[in-house]
Amino acid sequence: MKLKEITWYFPSNLEEVPELLKKERVLVYGGGTALLRSNLARVEGLIDLKALPLNYCREREGVIEIGAGCTYSQITEVLQKIDSHNILIRSLSGAASTPLRNRITLGGSIAFFPVWSDLMGPLLALEAEVALIGSSKGSFPLVEYLKKREIRNRSLITGIYYKKRELNSYYFRQSRTHFDYSAFSISILVKKSASLSASRIEEPAIVIVGCRNKFSKLSSLEESLKNCSPDEVQIKDITGSLEVEFAAKKNYSPDYLKHLAAVEMERALKAVLRS
Ligand SMILES: Cc1cc2nc3c(=O)[nH]c(=O)nc-3n(C[C@H](O)[C@H](O)[C@H](O)COP(=O)(O)OP(=O)(O)OC[C@H]3O[C@@H](n4cnc5c(N)ncnc54)[C@H](O)[C@@H]3O)c2cc1C
Repeated sequence: MKLKEITWYFPSNLEEVPELLKKERVLVYGGGTALLRSNLARVEGLIDLKALPLNYCREREGVIEIGAGCTYSQITEVLQKIDSHNILIRSLSGAASTPLRNRITLGGSIAFFPVWSDLMGPLLALEAEVALIGSSKGSFPLVEYLKKREIRNRSLITGIYYKKRELNSYYFRQSRTHFDYSAFSISILVKKSASLSASRIEEPAIVIVGCRNKFSKLSSLEESLKNCSPDEVQIKDITGSLEVEFAAKKNYSPDYLKHLAAVEMERALKAVLRS
């Protein structure tokens, strides 16, 4: 069997990219961990991002900026120095395996967004913005990027950014063994103050990834927490009927997943509010 030829492009500055994105059947190559497992029969070219200046993770005027070319390992390493309580440190350091974390990129993981993603729940909770070039230029809220195909088409993610804040965070991934793909994940952020137990809960953000619509921001649950004292919250009451639905997955029925999510949400809220 004759192997199909694929043309590789190696742009070294961002100005070259929009023209390359206009080519038919040419895809962007980030870490390659999803691409190389997919059917490339119709692909004629790949745009390698390694020579582009997309490998940064830094703080600028209270904003954390992460380039699309950063790997999960690089992100956790740098965030430990510049945003040491960030939920991404916990979520990404538990993803996949060390060799994979050294390859999986931020940009590829946003564009691909698998249901087992350990990146997207935290980014959605952080209300990250995505920076794009190509057919869509500028920055867009991550939720908008995910919902609108026309924004994604023929666009290159150059990076994300989010406001650095002092937050209490909790991350949980449901899997039978450490290396399994997660069935769902829970990301929680609440505003941290000097004495949380004596204060009110501010800006709660709760996201489940892996549910029926891929992800869900639990707005009613967030509303029921807002401005409450952490000690007064009746956690069992508010997690009893979670506003989230699941499809059946290998080893899990939809009802079982919903039950597990409620149990883990109760644990998560206890940990994040009462710690
Ligand atoms: C065995 C295994 C286990 C895994 N387990 C986990 C896990 O537990 N948790 C987890 O979070 N992830 C996990 N992953 C990673 C996940 O499944 C994807 O493979 C990964 O997120 C893709 O990232 P990448 O950089 O390799 O993207 P690529 O494979 O390079 O690209 C993926 C898609 O994104 C597009 N793309 C790439 N970069 C950009 C960009 N900058 N702008 C626009 N489009 C772009 C590509 O064209 C392609 O369509 C696992 C992967 C494997 C192989």
